[in-house]
Amino acid sequence: MKEPNALRDVDARILGEAMLSEEGMAVLRTLCDVHGSRFAGTRDEWRAGDFLLERMLACGLSRVHAEPFPFLAWRRGRTPTLQVVGPCKLSLDCIALPYSPATAEGGVGLEAVNVGEGLPEDFARQRRDIRGKAVLASNESPGYYHRWVHRAEKYARAVAAGAKAFIFMNRLEGLLPETGSARFNRRGEIPAVGVSKETGARLVSLLREGPVRLHIETHDSFARGRSRNIVGEFPGTEHPDEVVVVGGHYDGHDISQGAADNASGVATVLEAARLLAPHRGLLKRTVRFVCFGAEEVGLLGGAAYVAHHAAEMARTRLMVNLDCIGNDRGKGFDFMGWDEAKAPLIAMAREMKQDIVFASRPNPYSDHFHFMVAGVPICLLGNVGGTPKGRGYGHTAADTLDKVGRADLREAAALLARSLLRFANDRAWALPHKSTAEVRRILDRYELIDVMKAEGTLPKALR
Ligand SMILES: [Zn+2]
Repeated sequence: MKEPNALRDVDARILGEAMLSEEGMAVLRTLCDVHGSRFAGTRDEWRAGDFLLERMLACGLSRVHAEPFPFLAWRRGRTPTLQVVGPCKLSLDCIALPYSPATAEGGVGLEAVNVGEGLPEDFARQRRDIRGKAVLASNESPGYYHRWVHRAEKYARAVAAGAKAFIFMNRLEGLLPETGSARFNRRGEIPAVGVSKETGARLVSLLREGPVRLHIETHDSFARGRSRNIVGEFPGTEHPDEVVVVGGHYDGHDISQGAADNASGVATVLEAARLLAPHRGLLKRTVRFVCFGAEEVGLLGGAAYVAHHAAEMARTRLMVNLDCIGNDRGKGFDFMGWDEAKAPLIAMAREMKQDIVFASRPNPYSDHFHFMVAGVPICLLGNVGGTPKGRGYGHTAADTLDKVGRADLREAAALLARSLLRFANDRAWALPHKSTAEVRRILDRYELIDVMKAEGTLPKALR
């Protein structure tokens, strides 16, 4: 069957420009090599914001501006101490996780307990054995489990069971501890540290022989912080008040360059803006580009945007999020419960003559989430559809520039630019907004209401 493509010439120009362009990689390189980790609330993050403002102006976007917001910043202190003091003596490498509080001066002595993958069932089964101890949990979310089990959930369940410390063990080899916020934008109750797979394996091995006593000391602190969303747009020619939002977070974790997570997403968003610029006159509705701040510490940029633009949510047609553009597996869009998007996506893929993977499985762990709470149709661009198996190098010191492929960035940017033309123009992309009850139902299908209750992250609107 032949699908007519009225945009064939435009598509050809976008694809040609994308495949010859070095601009996306140049933006990626500047974000990683010049602006470092861009950790929320730091000078790195602020300067990266200045760079993005500059890039948006260079792309020809209108109304380019920053939207600042306050939050509780976490400051990494001296290297923490993690020692085995019995049955043997060992000094282990570890890093503190964001929002981990400092221990009392001199640290704490604790017995360790291993909860394996830290599934809700593991915590339930070992409940009596956790109180007063240091909980060791892997970052594994096993393939046989029906959903992803996030670090914040494991930490919260450890706190609820009366644990006195949390040790988060990587599943990926290479002496790489994985970081990630223990709480979102609020002080954690118990110290939390990350250890490599190898260090974790040593602890697990010792625990098989009998009780293990640890000494833990952390030195981290809190401060008033400021972050910003960076915003610019191509105004629509027919319905300028109707908006397609496209964005990704530019902050990263302080132990790495945050190249895949998420300089890759931001570079793709800006490259799509550059590719669309010569064709902006074709956009019937406004396409607004947003680089979100402070995502890694609690989705704060997404939340701030939705609060600031609350009056526009009913006229926000779609939010497209980019958080890690993925590798060379097939790219697509995850509509997170908006199953109505399947038919228009198939039609669009045919018309564009490109395989585009469709998925519809909600997750509440990136900037699209607060749009979803407001009922706005959302999707995430990347490698979608498979069972999530963890973050790979994400959240480790190895998430560096060399991990992002030029071909992937080009493919993602071209797909995004071509899709935005359709999302903003075609009648088929007027997806229904959902009521709070419907949003709750989507999340409930994957137990996510209960999970967020356990984490203490359930937004007021959904309670
Ligand atoms: Zn991310």
